[in-house]
Amino acid sequence: MRYSNDMQPVITLTSGPVNAYPDVLRGLGRVVLYDYDPAFQLFYEELVAKTQKVMGLSTRPLIMQGEPVLGLEAAAASLIATEDTVLNLASGVYGKGFGYWAARYTGNELHEIEVPYNEAIDPQAVAEMLRQHPEISVVCACHHDTPSGTINPINEIGAIVAEHGAYLIVDAVSSFGGMQTSPDACKADLYVTGPNKCLGAPPGLTMVGVSDRAWTKMKANERAPRASMLSILDWENAWSHKEPFPFTPSVAELNGYDVALDLYLEEGPENVWARHDLTARATRAGIKAMGLELWAADETIASPTTTTIRTPDGLDEQAIRDEARARYGVVFSSGRGETAGKLTRIGHMGPTAQPIYAIAGLTAYAGALNALGRKVDAGAGLAAAMAVIDAAN
Ligand SMILES: *Cc1c(COP(=O)(O)O)cnc(C)c1O
Repeated sequence: MRYSNDMQPVITLTSGPVNAYPDVLRGLGRVVLYDYDPAFQLFYEELVAKTQKVMGLSTRPLIMQGEPVLGLEAAAASLIATEDTVLNLASGVYGKGFGYWAARYTGNELHEIEVPYNEAIDPQAVAEMLRQHPEISVVCACHHDTPSGTINPINEIGAIVAEHGAYLIVDAVSSFGGMQTSPDACKADLYVTGPNKCLGAPPGLTMVGVSDRAWTKMKANERAPRASMLSILDWENAWSHKEPFPFTPSVAELNGYDVALDLYLEEGPENVWARHDLTARATRAGIKAMGLELWAADETIASPTTTTIRTPDGLDEQAIRDEARARYGVVFSSGRGETAGKLTRIGHMGPTAQPIYAIAGLTAYAGALNALGRKVDAGAGLAAAMAVIDAAN
C-alpha cells in the first residue's frame, strides 16, 4: 500500500516540531483560565519555579510566549548594545543565522568563526580569537546545530568565554532535555530553549535562562526592546502574581508545557537523556552497517537527538523522504539552507527517543533507498541497531 500525502503520517521522526506526548496533548485540553484569575497566576508562578528546577538554574527563568525563534531574536535585541563587539560561532544554519541578528544590533563589525557544517567549533579557536580581539564583549553559540545534527563543546567554549569576561548567548533549543546540558554548566548569560524539541510539547513557547549580570546589562541597554513582543525586560517580574502580565500569555501552551515538565521530572532527566543517546547510537550503528555515511565528520560530535545521513551520490534527497512517507508513512526532516539536499535527518526527540524508533527509521530509510534503486542491506542495518539496543539491556 502507499500512504498518500492527504493521509496523516504513521510515525513522525522529525527533528522538531515533534509529536507531543499523549499526556501533553491531554494537558492542552485543560481549562483555559483567565490570566488575571488568581488560580492562573499561582499556576504561572509554580510553572516558572518548575522551569527553574528543570533548567538547574540559580536565577529565575523567563517563559516567552512564542516559539524559540522569538526568544533567540529577543536575546540578540536585548543583550547586544551598539557599543558591543560580537563574536558569532557558526557550525551550521542556526549558528550562522544568529549572526544576522547579532549584526543588526552591534554597531561594530561582526567577528565570526565558521567551520564546515559537518564539523564542530574548536574551543581553542575561540580562545585564539578572543586573544586577538580583546574588545569582544558578546559571544553567540548554538549548542546543537540541528540542520547538521552536530554538537558543539559548549561547556568548554563557555569556560573560555567566561575567563575572557564576555557575555555568552546560547541556543540550546534542540539539545536541552535530550542530553546533559544546562545554563550554569556552560556559564551562559542567556540560554534559550523550548518545549517543542526534546521535551515533547508543541511549539509556542521559549524558556530563557538569564544570569544576574545579563539583567543588569539589558537594563543598561537603551535600545533593548521594551513594551514590545520582542522584549525580555517586560517579562522580568511576570513570574510574580503581584505584577500584571505585559500581554496575555499562551494559556493552552503553558498547560501542555506544564505536563511536559512533570513527565520529564517523573521519568528522571538521566533516564530521558539515556534513551535519546541509545536511540541515536542504534540509528548510527544501523546506518554504518548498511554502508551509508553519517553527515557528522566525526561520530563524537554526532547529536544524541538527531541523526543526519549524508545523501548517497546520485540520489535526490527529497525523493528519499517522499518514498519513506509513501511506503511506510514515516516522516523525516530534510536539511535546511546550506545542508538542504545534502542530508536527511532522523529525529530522536521526546516521545520518539525510543529504541524501537531507530528500527522504524532505519527500515523506512533503507526501504526508500532500495525502492529508488540504491540497494542496501537493510537486514545488516537492523541487526547492528538491535545489537546496540541489546547491549544496553
Ligand atoms: C528548532 C530550533 C529553533 C527554533 O526554530 P524553528 O526553526 O522555528 O523551529 C532554534 N534553534 C535551533 C537550534 C533549533 O533546532
